[in-house]
Amino acid sequence: MKILDPEKLYTMEGTNLEPGDTFNFACGPHLKCFNLCCRNLTLFLYPYDVARLRRALKISSGQFIDRHTQIVLRKGSHFPDVLLAMAENEQKTCPFLTAKGCSVYMDRPWACRTFPTEHGIYYDDKTGLSTRLDWFKPPDYCLGRHEPNTWTVESWHADQGAGIYYKQMEQWSAFLRHFENDPWQGKGPESQAGRMAFMATYNPDDFLAFVRQSSFLKRYKLAADAKKKIKKNDEILLRLGREFALNFLFNKPATLFQKA
Ligand code: SF4
Ligand code: SF4
Repeated sequence: MKILDPEKLYTMEGTNLEPGDTFNFACGPHLKCFNLCCRNLTLFLYPYDVARLRRALKISSGQFIDRHTQIVLRKGSHFPDVLLAMAENEQKTCPFLTAKGCSVYMDRPWACRTFPTEHGIYYDDKTGLSTRLDWFKPPDYCLGRHEPNTWTVESWHADQGAGIYYKQMEQWSAFLRHFENDPWQGKGPESQAGRMAFMATYNPDDFLAFVRQSSFLKRYKLAADAKKKIKKNDEILLRLGREFALNFLFNKPATLFQKA
């Protein structure tokens, strides 16, 4: 989900969907285009995507990042983006694509889950309010748009189990807003602080090990909820990681820990 520049709102590609607008769509092996869309993608992965996919694959988040991602820094951005690395074959297929479809379907990332809709969020600095904007944007070869099934964005998200992902995306977008200005004092996200912030937000298993094995628990006291749930609850662990990064980079107050 992009953070939108209000001046560019109406230059976005695709059909803008107002609340209540409908679109037609269905997908499945009965369509000639089945699996065509899962190749040669620039597929952004967000922290909750990584958390879910590493559980689906039964590997650690560090292993997932090493094996399946490319980390890039877009021009004008101060926090790295994470892309899913496509397979090294002629068609550059998604590494999780099989003849039967997506092998990680239950844990597929936000972008796949909400496809063929796309979303952006913009923040009104005057009111402090955020608004989500939605587009219907299937590629030309996607035959699903000619199917009779009718959806609104909300019913499509509900059908695809996107609610928890959307909540996480909102929180991630709010986190990224802090990086509109360079927090690295010219040293870039490759700096020690940058690596720490990346680990805290994108690599929950290493962050959990850091919390337990470093002096973190001597310096900070975890809130009862965090203490009880960080081992099994990725939402809490990711939130703790974001709060930790914002606290050490920007001195933002945290809710899940305080100085011991
Ligand atoms: S191209 Fe569209 S309809 Fe075809 S498999 Fe992909 S999402 Fe489904
Ligand atoms: S994760 Fe699944 S749905 Fe997404 S591109 Fe890969 S195979 Fe397709």
